[in-house]
Amino acid sequence: MKRFILLFGFTLAIKCFAGEAKDEQIHNCPFCMLPIDNVGPPKHLENDTISGFGMNVSQRRSMFKAMGAHRFFQHHHSHIHPHQHQQPHHQKKKRSMICTRFSCRNLASFSVLPKGAQSYVNGKWVPAASGKIFDVYNPYSNELLTKAPDCEVTDAKQAVKAARDAFEHWSLGTTAKQRGAILQKWAQIITEKEKEMGEILTKEMGKPWPEARGEVLFSAGYFEWYAGEARRIYGQIVPSASPNREHFHIREPIGVVAMITPWNFPSAMIARKASAALAAGCSVIVKPAHETPLSALALAQTSEEAGMPAGVFNVLTTSAENLPGISRYLCETTDVDCVSFTGSTRVGKLLLSQSASTVKRVCLELGGNAPFIVFESADLDLAVKGTMSAKVRGSGQTCVSANRIFVHEKIHDKYLDKLKAAVAQQVVGDGMDSKTTQGPLINGKAVEKVEFLLDDALKKGAHLVCGGKRTAASCFQPTIITNVSNNMEIAHTEIFGPIIAIQSFNNEADVLRRANDSRVGLAGYLFSQNMAQIHRVTRRMQVGMIGVNEGLMSCVEAAFGGVKESGLGREGGPQGIDEFTQWKYICVQH
Ligand code: NAP
Repeated sequence: MKRFILLFGFTLAIKCFAGEAKDEQIHNCPFCMLPIDNVGPPKHLENDTISGFGMNVSQRRSMFKAMGAHRFFQHHHSHIHPHQHQQPHHQKKKRSMICTRFSCRNLASFSVLPKGAQSYVNGKWVPAASGKIFDVYNPYSNELLTKAPDCEVTDAKQAVKAARDAFEHWSLGTTAKQRGAILQKWAQIITEKEKEMGEILTKEMGKPWPEARGEVLFSAGYFEWYAGEARRIYGQIVPSASPNREHFHIREPIGVVAMITPWNFPSAMIARKASAALAAGCSVIVKPAHETPLSALALAQTSEEAGMPAGVFNVLTTSAENLPGISRYLCETTDVDCVSFTGSTRVGKLLLSQSASTVKRVCLELGGNAPFIVFESADLDLAVKGTMSAKVRGSGQTCVSANRIFVHEKIHDKYLDKLKAAVAQQVVGDGMDSKTTQGPLINGKAVEKVEFLLDDALKKGAHLVCGGKRTAASCFQPTIITNVSNNMEIAHTEIFGPIIAIQSFNNEADVLRRANDSRVGLAGYLFSQNMAQIHRVTRRMQVGMIGVNEGLMSCVEAAFGGVKESGLGREGGPQGIDEFTQWKYICVQH
């Protein structure tokens, strides 16, 4: 019987690889024999509220077709079931249930990850000098995924030396065209490996696999964009006041750049910085978040395959314990010329002050508290779709997440009804389950913060419309609360969770004053069909980016960044290069 099952399974798998499996058929997983859900791209992925990243519906459809999300060709079981600490999903359900997992692969089989706990320094995979390691967990299952090297300052010094040594050749010994060609190749490799890299991302961060794959493709998009921008780092010749002098302005790479990145976009937040810095001719050391080191390591592996010279792109992983020492060293050493950070405003301020001693350039992409305004004339379907993209994506754990939702009192109830219907469609769970639209929060602490904010709001008079509960592990239901007011913590704090907190307003001046009443100003959104109002409000909103009738505005072509305590500088778009270049004036007398 066992043999028969295996034979049957393999035959079916081979057919499927050969593309012979028909969409209409219902298949069984060749390993556990449960029927594979044959729903095709899950309905929530057919609309453009979730996976986003500048892909239109038809691009996303073809992505899903290419993914074969409805088939099981990626459905390889590992010997140890991924859900070690939970009941395995197959066992939990009766045999008549449908297996909806996209894949059950073990991380050891991933070609883009190092074999063992190793960082990537000077073109080599190396363990921490101390031999220490730290654990990396799956936020959905709490399963121990793997271990990563716990680097210390000694290792950071090696990485900085490698980047320093590589800088001269990379900046002066290569042309912009050559650098662009490597970046272009890198983009191509990432695109080819996006399934695998997306799965790694889902496993370490929790977001649904389609969303994770969207992020990986988004990362590839940055490498592709800056492959082109490398050749457009133009200088100036300014007419001189003297007949025998010429004034040239040229732009040079700033040097060695240390990058510290967060867990919420473990791939894209590295790609957005590194692509621009490398295009400009800088060498790079990345220190990813300890929660999500694997996507960074996968980027290192793919950089090598793209032909990146040794020492130009380095990745150093470290635990929370060793992090302060390493980051202080990166900020204070004169061998690093620029610190580029994405993360919380609190840590950004700390790094800025630590970097002051060497007056190095500091680029900061920090926290937000985005106002999302729905005016009386808004197209409510669009506004609800925008709310879902701006709020539910990443389980609300994005810096541009709609944090304070202001709805005109005349359309408040209608908007709420439509929003409730959209929220009811959400399925919270394991990101590797094809039915999941919303993954877990990053850890238990994040859930506790959300619970605290909700509790405080409800105590102070907010109404709970739906949700409000932690479900499995770190999962939290998408939640709507109304009647939110300024005396509640939630009105001032970056929620970083799936709570849609609604306040009502009745006039433009008042809502603008409330929207701008924040020390941070990253993203803002407004929904209106009144053109004059759109112009008035966009000019007056104190944020770095505005989505007008659009809830998902991030794209590689546009400048991302904030005002006030949301940061310094811009990433992405033509402006992203500015962060990593400096002007040199050359005066020539003849
Ligand atoms: P975080 O705590 O500031 O961490 C970000 C990075 O800084 C991680 O690599 C983290 O390492 C490291 N870090 C933490 N404490 C540090 C310290 N004392 N010294 C040096 N480095 C330190 O932020 P997060 O919780 O990961 O991310 C969420 C925040 O990032 C939110 O505020 C969000 O708005 C912001 N964000 C902004 C953007 C943007 O583009 N503006 C994009 C994404 C996220 P460990 O994780 O290993 O502790």
